Amino acid sequence: MAKAKRIYAFGGGKADGSMELKNLLGGKGAGLAEMSRIGIPVPPGFTITTEVCTEFYRSGGKLPKSLVPEIRAALAQTEKLVGRRLGDPKDPLLVSVRSGARVSMPGMMDTVLNLGLNDRTVEGLAVRSRNPRFAWDSYRRFCAMFGDVVLGMKPEKKEDRDPFEQILAWKKQSLGVKDDSELGVEALREIVAAEKAEIARRGKVLPEDPMAQLLAAVEAVFRSWDNERAVAYRQLNGIPAEWGTAVTVQAMVFGNLGDDSGTGVAFTRDPATGENAFYGEFLVNAQGEDVVAGIRTPQKIAELAAHFPDIARQLEKVRARLERHYRDMQDIEFTIEAGKLYVLQTRSGKRTGIAAVRAAVEMAEAGLIKKDEAVLRVEPGALDHLLRPVFDQHAKEKAVAEGRLLAKGLPAGPGAARGRLVFFADEAAAWKERGEKVILARHETSPEDIRGMAAAEGFLTAFGGMTSHAALVARQMGKVAVVGCGALDFDYNARQMTVAAAGGSRVLKEGDWLSLDGSTGEVIEGALETSPSEVVQVLLERARKPADAPLYRDFAKLLGWADQARRLDVRANADQPDQAAVAVAFGAKGIGLCRTEHMFFGEGKIGPMREMIVAENEAERRAALAKLLPLQRADFAGILKAMAPNPVVVRTLDPPLHEFLPHDAEGMAELARATGKTVDRIRERVAELRESNPMIGHRGCRLGISYPEITEMQARAIFEAACDLAKEGVHVHPEVMIPLVGTRKELDHQLEVVHATAAKVFAENGRKVRYEVGTMIEVPRGALRAGDIAQSAQFFSFGTNDLTQMTYGISRDDVGPVLASYYAKGIYEVDPFVTIDRVGVGQLMELAVERGRATRPDLEIGICGEHGGDPASVVFCHELGLDYVSCSPWRIPIARLAAAQAALRERAARKAAEARPAPRAPAHRNGAVVNGARAAGGARRNSAVAAPAKAPRAGGTKRARPSPRA
Ligand code: PEP
Ligand code: MG
Repeated sequence: MAKAKRIYAFGGGKADGSMELKNLLGGKGAGLAEMSRIGIPVPPGFTITTEVCTEFYRSGGKLPKSLVPEIRAALAQTEKLVGRRLGDPKDPLLVSVRSGARVSMPGMMDTVLNLGLNDRTVEGLAVRSRNPRFAWDSYRRFCAMFGDVVLGMKPEKKEDRDPFEQILAWKKQSLGVKDDSELGVEALREIVAAEKAEIARRGKVLPEDPMAQLLAAVEAVFRSWDNERAVAYRQLNGIPAEWGTAVTVQAMVFGNLGDDSGTGVAFTRDPATGENAFYGEFLVNAQGEDVVAGIRTPQKIAELAAHFPDIARQLEKVRARLERHYRDMQDIEFTIEAGKLYVLQTRSGKRTGIAAVRAAVEMAEAGLIKKDEAVLRVEPGALDHLLRPVFDQHAKEKAVAEGRLLAKGLPAGPGAARGRLVFFADEAAAWKERGEKVILARHETSPEDIRGMAAAEGFLTAFGGMTSHAALVARQMGKVAVVGCGALDFDYNARQMTVAAAGGSRVLKEGDWLSLDGSTGEVIEGALETSPSEVVQVLLERARKPADAPLYRDFAKLLGWADQARRLDVRANADQPDQAAVAVAFGAKGIGLCRTEHMFFGEGKIGPMREMIVAENEAERRAALAKLLPLQRADFAGILKAMAPNPVVVRTLDPPLHEFLPHDAEGMAELARATGKTVDRIRERVAELRESNPMIGHRGCRLGISYPEITEMQARAIFEAACDLAKEGVHVHPEVMIPLVGTRKELDHQLEVVHATAAKVFAENGRKVRYEVGTMIEVPRGALRAGDIAQSAQFFSFGTNDLTQMTYGISRDDVGPVLASYYAKGIYEVDPFVTIDRVGVGQLMELAVERGRATRPDLEIGICGEHGGDPASVVFCHELGLDYVSCSPWRIPIARLAAAQAALRERAARKAAEARPAPRAPAHRNGAVVNGARAAGGARRNSAVAAPAKAPRAGGTKRARPSPRA
């Protein structure tokens, strides 16, 4: 077999690779290859594939020996195109060594720049460039980066800054200069000497031989795929560890050659708002890392024309060309070397949810992309950004009048955040753990701080621009961020910051409350009131008209397009009438789960529920149930009415007893008063009812079987409410759901109670209402015996919270410490209680679907576990051929979009399969695409369930389903 190609060259208007090879070359490598092909000026170089990264890890963190001659050959090609050689003492080629995974992970992995410098080549570079200052500045940067990335030299104490930053700061301070650019050749030589001394002091070696430097740097970049922040980023974004990173080695071009040089980062549209305006920043006489690392605060791209008019025109053309070519907003890095423009990177730009929606809708309306593509462009979870609160305008005006507006920075991540001030990332995570809301404030945030950023409501930095990595990460995470706020000065040791304000400076200490407006950059003292977002104001508050709400209009358009594409219905998990109203506003087509025990959490309702639980005989229980009946009836009436004419799945009582029993003296005394028992008897009764494993104890249908009068009362409440509403002319549709069923006999027992009660209530009222009775599939045995259970059940709904708990055998209440340790050891990459475990729990679901529908072909099947609002799990439910997903009301827009994306990807996969020559093994079964899932973004390895062949959306009719198989 021919050996797989491991290195792909680019440059000189040609390239071995292209965008198609993104999985192999990483986004960066593929982008450079593609730009080289379409005539964008790109410095030449080569990319080592992600497969080599896999090989690297497989061989215990070593580059394969056979790769070295291939690197030498590729390097020779680059040297030829540039006309310089690596290590040439007279005129050295310098290269950058960069990471690049198939999806961008801004700043999470490592880069080494200016590689190829040593004590001899630096002199050659000084002579050739006729700019000794530039040569020594590049050398001191190289030593620092090599020390950090390759030799792993980090601060020795967390209060310290980076060791090389400290050397630079020390030199600047000793010379009394503020800016790096004020350092002369002598100072830079001394910095290099100090850096080398520090390297030696820590027992490390910086090789003089440029080839040795290159190989060590390539290894270090591969290693950085597994550094702490990259691992954290992958966890947060669901990126599999096995993808690996590619490494790109590229000829350096220099933005720090003098005032005719510079470097910048730009987005083809505004990444915060989505506005179609060129947006970015640049620095004169600097290297790219200075912009993205957020060390110097740069100038706006609009000012570029004043410094470099010709370059500004060229860049505008590049912007238009790239957006047309990629048909998406791009994020580009460029360098101007002695008046010549180079583009170093292009990738799909990270954007806020707000920007994603606006840009997708505007691109579709401008005809650049199709509506279906617009639907695919927005990451479902990002819709959450459009629903978040903003600061209340009046509260803000008041704060300004009171002099609490402390400072203004750059608005890097929009939204409103308030929390208590914390200065260290690990502490932000710890404070969050104990239930505090925090704002993380740092001199600059480095990607190392990613866990702290994830834990914080928002973050604030003194340095950095809108395109710094911190800002990119904030936008992607949907975090509020204000960066580059020059008025701040930190004293980490004293755990305080000073804000220089016009009226004198203010000191803020750890724990003080602070509010950040990430849409305006304002930093305000205290915790400001918030008000609902534009979308929420239109949809829920009705305080704003759609005509005055452009963001709402884009949101509604996009979801309208999504609804045309999706096959899955979306319902809500809602227990109260007000939640049902929110669900309707967000587009729910029914309730998939009403947890009736939650109805008793409300004011004045818990008492009778407790009386019912501690009852010692049927008479006592019935007395308590009589008190509960009117409360339940009123709640059911509210929900059925809010949802009419759509179905409402009401689940019979499933209270894990420990959640409902009183534990304190006051609660016990109250229960004693209400029941007429002594406090001691109540205490004894609570002890009697205590279970060793309440989550797998006397709950769900088990309780209804032990005490059928409970189910009877609930059924009566449902049917009486339904009859009352039917009398008013409301079209109600209750579906009664029995929880925790593992055997058909359990279900049959409860069915009898429900049907008998329905018959009684209908006779009393002289009318009937349509209803169904079904079951949850949440016990593994229930999934295995689905064929039998479907003889009795009219519908199934997967309770994946319990199904996950019982399949893994991990208590859903006690999973925290397990997760922490399993993440750290790489045993889990995602929380199975958040994203369905396709290959385990998912297999049980597949079985249940297959067996249930083999018995009852029109069996309606949904999901009501928390997974129903998780985009990846929604995709899985689509592939399984479920009828609907049910999730919390606020996640409904996310589920609508995720369901649409699943349908569109499946359609594309089917088209691609049809376009391929007929395979030998049948690709279709019963006219359905088997395993269409692969292209739908999921690794569906074990699937036996066929996705539906056609996905008609005949309004209101039943979904097409896979044909039942024996
Ligand atoms: C489930 O188990 O997934 C479910 C929806 O029920 P609950 O969370 O109420 O146990
Ligand atoms: Mg459950």
